[in-house]
Amino acid sequence: MIAAIVVAAGSGARLGAVLPKALVPIAGAPLVSWSLRALDRCAQVAVIVVAAPAEHQGAMRDAVPAGQATPVIVVAGGSSRQRSVAAAMAVLPADVTIVLVHDAARPLLTAAVCDGVIAALDGVDGAIAASPVTDTLKRGDSDGVVVATVDRADLWAAQTPQGFHTSALRAAFAAAGDRELDTATDCAAMVEARGGRVRLVPTATPNLKVTVPADLAIVGALLRPE
Ligand code: C5P
Repeated sequence: MIAAIVVAAGSGARLGAVLPKALVPIAGAPLVSWSLRALDRCAQVAVIVVAAPAEHQGAMRDAVPAGQATPVIVVAGGSSRQRSVAAAMAVLPADVTIVLVHDAARPLLTAAVCDGVIAALDGVDGAIAASPVTDTLKRGDSDGVVVATVDRADLWAAQTPQGFHTSALRAAFAAAGDRELDTATDCAAMVEARGGRVRLVPTATPNLKVTVPADLAIVGALLRPE
């Protein structure tokens, strides 16, 4: 069975909103609902677990689109992204062999991207949506002065969804210490750190992340309300 975890327990401090980021309206619906709709359209995904801020679990349940067929389980998230993933993994049914982890902050998710990540898992431990870096990259010092130009030739920007064979993701979390659980910014890094092989899956459609207020207007313009 294939499951999806949607991490939606962030406060969204950089968005400056009163509501947690995942519940902020965009193109007429809560941010998280767009990811849930895409996962519902991915026929391979049999169950979805959403990690919500502990005090907003009811509102998160209300944000599930009406008529959604794939069952959604809402759990309280943790104090970091990875702790929220761990909380969701704890309630996964035992027969889940593949798990997709997706940030609620990326509402442009499509079923095709999910299918692509799942297909790319053959022969590797993980597969992640990603895009080649197109900007020229600079390393700066604490005064904001360039110290180096970084060759971008083989650099990719990691996105979500990130898919894993459940056994590989569970092993990585079981071996992780507090520091890693508090600071890792994606699941792939935890699997890579144990020698796991993670495949890059280029996204053919925009898969932007909502972080700051301006992102709401840009991403909102790309979302198509039904
Ligand atoms: O802060 P950032 O946007 O990088 O967070 C990535 C994702 O992780 C977001 O969807 C956010 O809701 C989620 N998150 C979480 N629990 C936390 C912090 C972030 O589920 N404690």
